[in-house]
Amino acid sequence: MDLALDSETRAFQQEVRAFLDEQLTPDIREATEKTTTVWVDKDVVMEWHRRLYRKGWVGYFWPKEYGGTGWSPTQQYIFLQECAQASAPRLIPMGLRYVGPVIFTFGTQEQKDTFLPKILSGEHYWCQGYSEPGAGSDLASLKMRAVRDGDEYVLNGSKIWTTNAHMADWIFCLVRTDNSGKKQEGITFVLVDMKTPGIKVDPIITLGLDHEVNQVFFDDVRIPVSNRVGDEGQGWSYGKFLLEFERAGGASGEYKAAIRKLKAIAGSQINGQQSLLRDPHFETEIAKLEIGVMGLEMTERRVMSRVAAGQRPGPEGSVLSATGVEINQRISELAVEAMDYYAAPLPPPDPTGIANDDNYPGPGYGAPVMGRYLNKRAASIYGGAKEIQREIISKAVLHL
Ligand SMILES: Cc1cc2nc3c(=O)[nH]c(=O)nc-3n(C[C@H](O)[C@H](O)[C@H](O)COP(=O)(O)OP(=O)(O)OC[C@H]3O[C@@H](n4cnc5c(N)ncnc54)[C@H](O)[C@@H]3O)c2cc1C
Repeated sequence: MDLALDSETRAFQQEVRAFLDEQLTPDIREATEKTTTVWVDKDVVMEWHRRLYRKGWVGYFWPKEYGGTGWSPTQQYIFLQECAQASAPRLIPMGLRYVGPVIFTFGTQEQKDTFLPKILSGEHYWCQGYSEPGAGSDLASLKMRAVRDGDEYVLNGSKIWTTNAHMADWIFCLVRTDNSGKKQEGITFVLVDMKTPGIKVDPIITLGLDHEVNQVFFDDVRIPVSNRVGDEGQGWSYGKFLLEFERAGGASGEYKAAIRKLKAIAGSQINGQQSLLRDPHFETEIAKLEIGVMGLEMTERRVMSRVAAGQRPGPEGSVLSATGVEINQRISELAVEAMDYYAAPLPPPDPTGIANDDNYPGPGYGAPVMGRYLNKRAASIYGGAKEIQREIISKAVLHL
């Protein structure tokens, strides 16, 4: 295992930093830093997406033959770390990281030609239709039906917790085409245009008063059979392939940036005669977080080193997810502690998810704190609930 960066990789790191200095405008950075929701506002993030697209870097994860950079796992990792530490908005993964790789790995030539260029250019904004009421952790229990009718499938049922469905052009769904075998069998992976008649999107407003998730209803929605990816009934294996990308790590850069913000808040808050940053309790809590992030980064680098050597990420994906979520949530808790009673007033919800400090009674840096804290409660659920990640760790790592 080699954790040090060689000179070529350091040169690449410098190139990424130079690009960020030039292209990541103060507006984009500020919007990212004030965002309380998981994803930064669509207009902001797509502006950043287009800047990367013009540079040829948006497909940082994709092979060259499909318009990607062809970067090594190490380069991808460096790129993500640098972007996060510079407060670049995270790129929306549903097209780029999730359905894109499924299409270029299992899709037909027609699907590759139709969808991949539009994912890269940002023309198509995707959402993910996996979970259903009653099928989350136990995803294979999904019930949404797709019944073949000539050259079409007719879809009926609903998907829930669908992030950004209200702004998506397309949704990829796991649907049930057969009930006769084991529950993992008879599942099919399909691509659905959100403008198709019979689709209704209902908002779900969360505790943080934000609108990111939705329930999507499908009522006799007709899609061409050519929108099926791979073989009928084999969707479970394509769906699992996708989840590996969803759980792949690389978040330590984001946590470092979040701790930096937390320290800035604590440094501005006065407790008695001194800044909160000098308070022994607070110092200890921040030190614990920093140690946690160092451990996480080491694990990320170990995984990266393994992937760079041509191996699979392994169960460390679940270690990264479970540990990262705890760090992430703790950062948001400490920010609430730091803001004290000024954390309590939740600024009025803004449809962009960017905290609006106009009517906020405290210092402006406190405006996103409570919204972010509330939004982060969901981090131990989405992308695989933490109990499920721990089950994977107990079986695959600890062999319990
Ligand atoms: C903010 C947010 C965004 C999301 N975005 C999307 C999206 O875009 N697309 C999509 O398809 N889905 C999305 N999801 C859904 C997400 O994947 C599910 O919420 C998640 O898989 C958990 O499923 P569930 O909600 O049905 O909870 P359940 O599976 O019912 O779990 C409830 C609780 O029981 C625990 N539990 C369940 N089974 C076990 C077990 N075997 N052992 C121990 N404990 C267990 C869980 O850990 C959890 O604490 C999102 C969820 C959230 C909160």
